[in-house]
Amino acid sequence: MALIIRVLGWFLILTLYWAMDWLNFLQAIKSALAGSLSILALSSWTVHEGHESKAGRLLNLLVVFLFLAICGFQSFLRDVFGVAQDDLIVVEALFNTDGGEASEFLIQHVWSIGKHLLVIFAASLFYWFLTGLRLPSAKHADGSGKSDIKVRKRGIGLPAVLFTGLFLLLHVNPTMRKENPLLYFPIRHAKWERSVESTRALQEKISTAVTVDSSLATLRYTGTEPRTVVFLIGESVTRLNWSLYGYERRTTPELESLGSRLVAFTDVITTLGSTVGDIRLMLGPGTREQPELYSSKPDILTMAGRVGFKTFWITNHSTDMAGALSILAEHADVTVNVNRGGSRGEGSHDEVILPVLEEALDDPAPLKFIVLHLLQAHPAFYFRYPESFARFDNADDEVARSLKAEGRSLRARKMRNYYDNAMLYSDHILRATIDLCEQRSDQSIAWLYAPDHGEDVGHYSNFVGHNNRVPAMFEIPLLFWRSEAFPKGLPEKSGFESRPYQTDLIDHTLLGLMGIEGDYYDSARDILSPRFEPLPRYIAEKPYP
Ligand SMILES: [Zn+2]
Repeated sequence: MALIIRVLGWFLILTLYWAMDWLNFLQAIKSALAGSLSILALSSWTVHEGHESKAGRLLNLLVVFLFLAICGFQSFLRDVFGVAQDDLIVVEALFNTDGGEASEFLIQHVWSIGKHLLVIFAASLFYWFLTGLRLPSAKHADGSGKSDIKVRKRGIGLPAVLFTGLFLLLHVNPTMRKENPLLYFPIRHAKWERSVESTRALQEKISTAVTVDSSLATLRYTGTEPRTVVFLIGESVTRLNWSLYGYERRTTPELESLGSRLVAFTDVITTLGSTVGDIRLMLGPGTREQPELYSSKPDILTMAGRVGFKTFWITNHSTDMAGALSILAEHADVTVNVNRGGSRGEGSHDEVILPVLEEALDDPAPLKFIVLHLLQAHPAFYFRYPESFARFDNADDEVARSLKAEGRSLRARKMRNYYDNAMLYSDHILRATIDLCEQRSDQSIAWLYAPDHGEDVGHYSNFVGHNNRVPAMFEIPLLFWRSEAFPKGLPEKSGFESRPYQTDLIDHTLLGLMGIEGDYYDSARDILSPRFEPLPRYIAEKPYP
């Protein structure tokens, strides 16, 4: 009976975590399974015929406290970052961090940390109370030493062996093994170390492959004049939330005011729905059919550098400095991380990129390729814009009403508002980068923008986040602008903005803009070329649309 009460108590605590949306359903189930087996295994050793020593109770409390600590940690991450449970990116960022960044982070989130600590202690107290229920203290147990021994013998019986065995068996499954609170951080740390190591190995592999790559030598710059190509990579932006593409909320007024000077492609999708995966395909010869080419062929920064472009990688994602994208970033002549608050900190709105872009534009090199990696709508959305852009927070408009009519949860509707605020701010930043290019009227500049992928923000259900099962995750804006002096002519026929395109091929468009020809350039894959030919498109092997 005592054991059942404890397990039910544990379930009750997890139900609370789940009801508060601090744990997702899957994580709550995993914690429930691992936790209840630990409770059953331990209690079946320490509880005999309804009796348990103080030490036994304390030991039980300790075990549950460890589980609660991990639940609290995961809840904190979900609460603050809105990440999926067990999101390795954040845990990895923790291992990557330094003292200054860590203390900044703790100060910034002191309330949330306090709240979750309080919940952990309250739940521990509740559990301690449960362990005392229906258990007359050992002192009151009546009987001689002889019967004590008898009780003990009967107590450590089949259940103890069975539950302990089941608990150990749980560790055979790699997913469940990670639920053991004592292994939570060691397993993740080992995984992080392996990923750092594999990045290093990959880096070496690529540089060896590139030195013997014969196609690289076929590339040449076909122009005669100086030129600059600026490529902005966005983050988690679906075109479904841009008024430029028909969204009911006015989220892109500044871009819209450019009128016909801005080309907005209307039928562009990404390929994988993941930051690293998609950016690798965008910036190299890798394609949907052959994604692994990124590890054996030169990327576009290497190609541009080979024909004489000075290359820049300016990022507001601090993870670009150590993670998988660091391989690309390091191939630039100039790499600048403008994020000073940790990539998920509040203090790094995308405007930090502007002064560095100005410097790059004013660099005297005649040929320049400037890549900007923006944070835009990286979770959590509400960290991505200054207060003055929180225009949709309590909006009572067509979007708010229809979401409500469709029965979306309060959380989903709030997240939609935050997301749209982030879109409005992104509009402002994108326009500001175009303005900086326009101010340099003597320069021949092409400007291209595409996000890595889209995002599901309560478009189909209450779900908010990366969701590879829905179109919003893949349907993105693709924008093009050029200065008066830029040489490349646009296709003559009207309506080319509706060309169907998938961003795994965007390297061809970038090479075209840079005026680079050779083995890695195919004008049929260049959306701006008069020779463009559309290809059938697929998302996860399914034809699109
Ligand atoms: Zn992304």
